[in-house]
Amino acid sequence: MRIPLIAGNWKMNKTVTEAVDFITQVTDKLPAPNEIETAIAAPAILLKSMMDANTGDRLQIAAENCYYENEGAYTGETSPMALKDMGLHYVIIGHSERRRYFNETDDIINRKVHAVFDNKMIPILCCDETMGRRESGEDIHWVVSQVTAALKGVSPEEAEHLIIAYEPSWAIGSGKSASADQAEDGCYLIRQTVADIYSDEIANQVRVLYGGSVNPENVSGIMNKDNIDGVLAGGASLDEKTFLQLVQYK
Ligand code: 13P
Repeated sequence: MRIPLIAGNWKMNKTVTEAVDFITQVTDKLPAPNEIETAIAAPAILLKSMMDANTGDRLQIAAENCYYENEGAYTGETSPMALKDMGLHYVIIGHSERRRYFNETDDIINRKVHAVFDNKMIPILCCDETMGRRESGEDIHWVVSQVTAALKGVSPEEAEHLIIAYEPSWAIGSGKSASADQAEDGCYLIRQTVADIYSDEIANQVRVLYGGSVNPENVSGIMNKDNIDGVLAGGASLDEKTFLQLVQYK
C-alpha cells in the first residue's frame, strides 16, 4: 500500500518570516501521515526556521537540492550530511530547473542520489520531458534514460524507498497541466522503468508523483490514477489555503 504524498516545491520563493508564517498556519491542519503524507520543499536558508515552526509533526520539511559531498571546499553548497543532521528525510534531486539553469548532468544527479541515500534520507528524483520530445516521440526514451542514469549503482534496498516525480517541463509554471491521462502515462512509464531495472515488487513500492501546474481543480483527477501516488506542486503550494486544498483532494 503506497501512502499518497502531497508535496510542495517552493523553489526560490519566500523569506524566513513568510515561511514560518505558512508553517505555523498549516502545521495543525494536516492529515495523519499514515493516511496522506504532506511535505514542503524549500531553499536551505529557510529549513531550520521551518523545522522549528513545524510543531504539528505531520508535515515533512524537505530540501530542494544538495551537493554530493558531505563536506569540503565547496563554497556555497549545501551538505547532505548537514540536512540529515537537521532532521530532514527528503531531498529533491534533479529538478528540471537544476538541469536547465545549473547544468546538472545525469552523472551529477546520480552522485546526488547516492549522497542522499548514503545519509539515510530519500531522494525525490525528478525527471522531465519537453514538448518537442513528446511530439517527436522521443519522450519515452528521454524519461527512461534519465531514470536509468540517476539510479546507476543504487541498491534494491535503497530503491524501494524512492520517490520519483514525473514533471514535463512544458507543464511547469505554464498553467497548462498535463491531462490526468498524460500524467498517468508518464508515471506508468517511470514505474515500468523501475521494474525493468529492479523488479515488479520494487516498482510497486516506489512512489511516483506528477508535477506541473497542479492546482485544486485538477488535483483529484490526477490523484485518481492508478500509477500516480502524489503530486509535486510549485505555484499552488505557496499559499496556505491553496496548499490545504491540494491536501484535501479527496
Ligand atoms: P508548478 O506547479 O508551478 O507548475 O511547478 C511544478 C514544479 O516544478 C514542482 O517541482
